[in-house]
Amino acid sequence: MKSYYDITGDGGSNILEQVGAMHAAIDEKLAGVKHRLAVGSGKGGVGKSTLTRQLATALRQRGNACAILDADLNGPSQARLSGLHDVPLLPGAEGVALPKDADGIGVVSLGSLIPESEAVSFDTVAAGDSYTWRATREFTAVAELLSSIDWGHLDYLLIDLPPGAERTLQFAEFLGSSTAFMLVTVPSDLARGVVARSVAALRGTPNRVLGYVENMRGYWCEACSDVRPLFPESERVDLGIPRLGSVPFDPQLAAACDRGEPAIGADRPWWVAIQKLAEVVEETIQTKPSSE
Ligand code: ADP
Repeated sequence: MKSYYDITGDGGSNILEQVGAMHAAIDEKLAGVKHRLAVGSGKGGVGKSTLTRQLATALRQRGNACAILDADLNGPSQARLSGLHDVPLLPGAEGVALPKDADGIGVVSLGSLIPESEAVSFDTVAAGDSYTWRATREFTAVAELLSSIDWGHLDYLLIDLPPGAERTLQFAEFLGSSTAFMLVTVPSDLARGVVARSVAALRGTPNRVLGYVENMRGYWCEACSDVRPLFPESERVDLGIPRLGSVPFDPQLAAACDRGEPAIGADRPWWVAIQKLAEVVEETIQTKPSSE
């Protein structure tokens, strides 16, 4: 049996051309998108999906056309967060029509297609199911979504990434250098330590990292109208990138996320923080980095 080293070129599969064609198809479908912003972390459960959703709402309120691609195929949350369950992808004039939620935000999430009671699985060629193979299938699925949806003209396409520092790096390579990154952490050193790995991994790519958002910085206590401490806030782990904003934990937001309801909380501190974040993201993304 031949090993990979014995095969000259790509063995006749024309895989490089296929990959090139896939990227060309993605670029064509995303041609009308001004800014691609991937929201990652490395750590899970820190609020990536929640902040992606709420940031889209705030950007939309500022007059931007926005859509969210839920790239966390194994833990898709955007369908629930947007109240879009059982939404089939239907053909439109220029590809698959972009499903929109009640706020007019486009949302593409496997959670809209596959019921929560079912596991998201990928066909494999081998029993044993290596991680690399699964990851490859996942990227193929994301590529299919990106290249078949009619994204139209958007100011922002927010891409909600899965956890894992290595996945963050893989997505940077997959999405290409024109995709900027925003990372999410909670204030603990434990989480910041993991996010620091993502920062280090992204440093080896040409992608722009706008900065990080500190989620759950304090707990909004409605009874005392004050933000109370939640995590230890030592900041011993220096992330070396700008802090774009801090958002407190608010049980009202958590409950609204569970119900899949829009959670705009008038002047609740978390919503004020998200609005400020949208302003900072817009300013930052529209300003050329000093190295250019
Ligand atoms: P991740 O995408 O990083 O895995 P999620 O966005 O799913 O994290 O958030 C994890 C949980 O924390 C969810 O139940 C979400 O509703 C809740 N949550 C996240 N941020 C906040 C916040 N600022 N206030 C209240 N609940 C929050």
